[in-house]
Amino acid sequence: MTKVNTVLGTIPAEELEIVAVHEHIGYGMPGSELDTRWWKTPERAYEETVPKLRKFREYGGGTMVDATGICNGRDIDYYKSLSRKTGVNIVACTGFVGGDTALPHFSRATVDYLAKVFIHEITVGIGDTGAKAGVIKVGVSRGGRMTELDKRIYRAAARAAVATGAPILTHLAINPEPAVTIFKEEGLPLDRVLFGHADDGLNAPITPHDWIYEQGGRIGFDTFGYDLELPDPPFWGRKRAERMEHFVKLVNKGYADKLLVSADANCSPLGWPGVKGHTINYIFEDMIPDMRAAGIDDATLKLLLEDNPADFLSLHA
Ligand SMILES: [Zn+2]
Repeated sequence: MTKVNTVLGTIPAEELEIVAVHEHIGYGMPGSELDTRWWKTPERAYEETVPKLRKFREYGGGTMVDATGICNGRDIDYYKSLSRKTGVNIVACTGFVGGDTALPHFSRATVDYLAKVFIHEITVGIGDTGAKAGVIKVGVSRGGRMTELDKRIYRAAARAAVATGAPILTHLAINPEPAVTIFKEEGLPLDRVLFGHADDGLNAPITPHDWIYEQGGRIGFDTFGYDLELPDPPFWGRKRAERMEHFVKLVNKGYADKLLVSADANCSPLGWPGVKGHTINYIFEDMIPDMRAAGIDDATLKLLLEDNPADFLSLHA
């Protein structure tokens, strides 16, 4: 049986139901916890988060992957409490959003040290929470080219993925050539890697979607809802119709088996106001209706929202 690590325990992949594969309970830049302007009481954080996750569950959502790495506000005991309260499975990640969010303790570490941290969090647990990480997060630093530190983290992640069978989720799918070289050198099959944010307005034009697919990688259309139609859209926003047209084009090319979708929303952001009007529930309220209207059938929706994420998140030991 295939198994997936959630914060409340390891469960069969069949129990995941509909999965939001790239979301955040609360993401913040390292150090935001020191900025008193942004301090939130636990009551407020719960108040902002619980209704969104309850609604997600009511809509039929089963699982959310929290793609918040070490140093960006990951809080496992809080996630466990949220999961118990709302009935949503939460998969936590080890790893880092990008080299540029790894604090000095980690940014100065060797590949071997980082791989050991990741493997420990996946197989033993994250601190004394008893929860095991289910995914390894890596990413490309600001600037758009992989830095030496990004590459060190990718290599450590690849070693941990080979050792544990856990999947890798990337922040950004730009400049993927050095990443693919590292994964191949470490003997990691590329279907264990989800190249994320392949759809955002800033990066979609410079992401080699066909090349990633040809290499066997998975492609993340995981910023659904960051639409330019929002009242105050972020710089990575994109026209709603343009994103959907791009997505349908890839489905029609036969890529559906390697596509994963999500909204990358923050339930309760840390150290920044977040993007107003955007939540995880965009998936049910807008994305799925838009996909249906664009001709995507129920079998493909099941593939995108259930089968592909179950296969991706399963520990391929
Ligand atoms: Zn994200």
